[in-house]
Amino acid sequence: MSDKPFFRFHPGAYERGAFVRSLAPCDVCERPSVWLYDAAIYVAGEKPAVCARCVADGKLSEHLDGDFQLHDADMEDEIEDAVSEEVMQKTPGFSTFNAFTWPVLDGKPLAYVGHGDEDATWDDPAAVAAVKKLYADVYGETLDGPTPYALVFREVDGPRHVAILDLD
Ligand SMILES: [Zn+2]
Repeated sequence: MSDKPFFRFHPGAYERGAFVRSLAPCDVCERPSVWLYDAAIYVAGEKPAVCARCVADGKLSEHLDGDFQLHDADMEDEIEDAVSEEVMQKTPGFSTFNAFTWPVLDGKPLAYVGHGDEDATWDDPAAVAAVKKLYADVYGETLDGPTPYALVFREVDGPRHVAILDLD
């Protein structure tokens, strides 16, 4: 496995700082991390130092006996176990104000692509449309610019975007 694996449910993980460059040893594989995980692990007890390889390939899941999550989130019950595990335990986290329910379309979890206040979000017309639709649906008002209170997701293999609220 590459030292810098791609995460299809969080494609911007490295740019967003979910990992930092470090040669500190990974507690799971005991090799130099190269990309050391620097986001939350929701686990009882001590949080291991873990490399990107061990997050991606499931060795972290084995190390923690599957008893943890990388997101302060719930997954809908009907998602198949392997996919649910990929999202919750093999996909690097990102900061949110609150727990949230991971968005799903047609039985498939969506990929997290950014917050409503990131430049990349406002460079993507489909992401902007999703955030504006969210505000229109929830508040009945037009949003004029970036907001830190929206999380934007899109289909892994499709163009549809969905935004959800994350109020502080
Ligand atoms: Zn490792």
